[in-house]
Amino acid sequence: MQELTHYMNGEHVKGTSGRFADVFNPATGEVQAKCPLASTDEMARAVDFAAAAQPAWGAVNPQRRARVMMEFVRLLNRDMDKLAEALSREHGKTLPDAKGDVQRGLEVVEYCIGAPQLLKGEFTDSAGPGIDMYSMRQPLGVTAGITPFNFPAMIPMWMFAPAIACGNAFILKPSERDPSVPLMLAELMEEAGAPKGILQVVNGDKEAVDAIIDHPVIQSIGFVGSTPIAEYIYGRGCSNGKRVQCFGGAKNHMIIMPDADMDQAADALVGAGYGAAGERCMAISVAVPVGDETADRLIEKLVPRIEKLKVGPYTAGDDVDYGPVVTAAAKEKILGLVQSGVDQGAELVVDGRDFNLQGYEDGFFIGPHLFDRVTPDMDIYQQEIFGPVLSTVRAGSYEEALQLAMDHEMGNGTAIFTRDGDAARDFAARVNVGMIGVNVPIPVPLAYHTFGGWKKSAFGDLNQHGPDAFKFYTRTKTVTARWPSGIKEGGEFNFKAMD
Ligand code: NAD
Repeated sequence: MQELTHYMNGEHVKGTSGRFADVFNPATGEVQAKCPLASTDEMARAVDFAAAAQPAWGAVNPQRRARVMMEFVRLLNRDMDKLAEALSREHGKTLPDAKGDVQRGLEVVEYCIGAPQLLKGEFTDSAGPGIDMYSMRQPLGVTAGITPFNFPAMIPMWMFAPAIACGNAFILKPSERDPSVPLMLAELMEEAGAPKGILQVVNGDKEAVDAIIDHPVIQSIGFVGSTPIAEYIYGRGCSNGKRVQCFGGAKNHMIIMPDADMDQAADALVGAGYGAAGERCMAISVAVPVGDETADRLIEKLVPRIEKLKVGPYTAGDDVDYGPVVTAAAKEKILGLVQSGVDQGAELVVDGRDFNLQGYEDGFFIGPHLFDRVTPDMDIYQQEIFGPVLSTVRAGSYEEALQLAMDHEMGNGTAIFTRDGDAARDFAARVNVGMIGVNVPIPVPLAYHTFGGWKKSAFGDLNQHGPDAFKFYTRTKTVTARWPSGIKEGGEFNFKAMD
């Protein structure tokens, strides 16, 4: 049994709390490693290392910091296969999907190579008589991030790459379900040239998270995970005077208009609904066809596609569509919600409950499920299922479909499939959701834009990555400067004879 470590001040260190979490191989159901769960004291040690390392790093010029990012990109590409394999082994997603996880983080690192440009301040010449005014963006100091299991490479990089490019030290508390890739990333950052203590990984659970929230030296907290925890960390972190951004759960609707290309819509729904076993915050979990005829045509196109999906372990080759869910507890919760859908009267058109994969009976695999005639009062509509379960809610009109997306408490992403530019434009303008796709099912913005939901999907006012990250990880300082008249007035310019 492998015992994982923390990564502090440039070294792998064993956990000392005596508490561990099981890290599973979701494909086989076996416990493959033990993840140490840090105590408050262990977190405080990491904070001390970070606080000692940060001032020198903050004083390094931004171009040199950017060069570390350049080298880190090279190392990520060099180790792509190794990272993807470690990621799939603990998370369960397919290898191509795991590479996408690394790649989308890598693109944020590439963006951070622009730190010298992004950190430039503002300057007003002669703001008053002889007065200049300028602002600069300074690092916060010691920053921290708490990340979910579903993107163990991308989401840590969303946070630590801009934080470190801005001159901060960063403490990462990754998900205890798949901590190996975050540990590998910390090693690679040091190989790329980040000084010891600038990126540390402290594994843990609530105790480690609370130690972050309450530590007076930590200046900011980034969180991505489920909404109840996001709300908790945001409230307590803000009341402790920290800068906090927390991103929560999702229930992403896809509106299918009668004029949509139904094959394109069905293909998009299958990929966005079942990819990564539905364990994506930008997964489409609700299809909203407009009109019964559209709904009937959509279901007819969806069923054969869903029945063809290949579910299997990441080791079974690149034609596997999705793998197991992350834990037995997640599987049980998802199947419980499926049962509630049946009990509450939804029509289970594709039933994956009896799915069994020969040779992997103990793995956490779930067959794909498709519900039709779901209504907003049902648990499967209100709750985030985070599994391979797609719900269809039939809407009578475009306005009704729009209202559904508007009324749901989550507001991460949404999409509309249509050939009507006016409908698409109206939808994008009016819907109260943060990220919108027009004939694009998973509208995840690229690194140089920003990522963030609305409503209960996000707490705080700045988004992830893109220009917002450089604001989040710096403070503005504004200087107003006037210099007394210098030597040019009072000085002696005549060549005097010596007395
Ligand atoms: P989670 O909320 O269970 O865990 C996230 C992090 O919080 C982990 O590091 C975990 O150790 C920690 N944590 C768990 N319980 C805690 C507690 N009681 N107190 C303090 N910390 C605690 O989420 P998860 O299951 O790892 O990830 C899935 C969730 O993340 C889904 O809801 C998904 O929608 C969401 N998510 C959101 C985004 C986004 O950008 N909005 C992106 C990815 C995932």
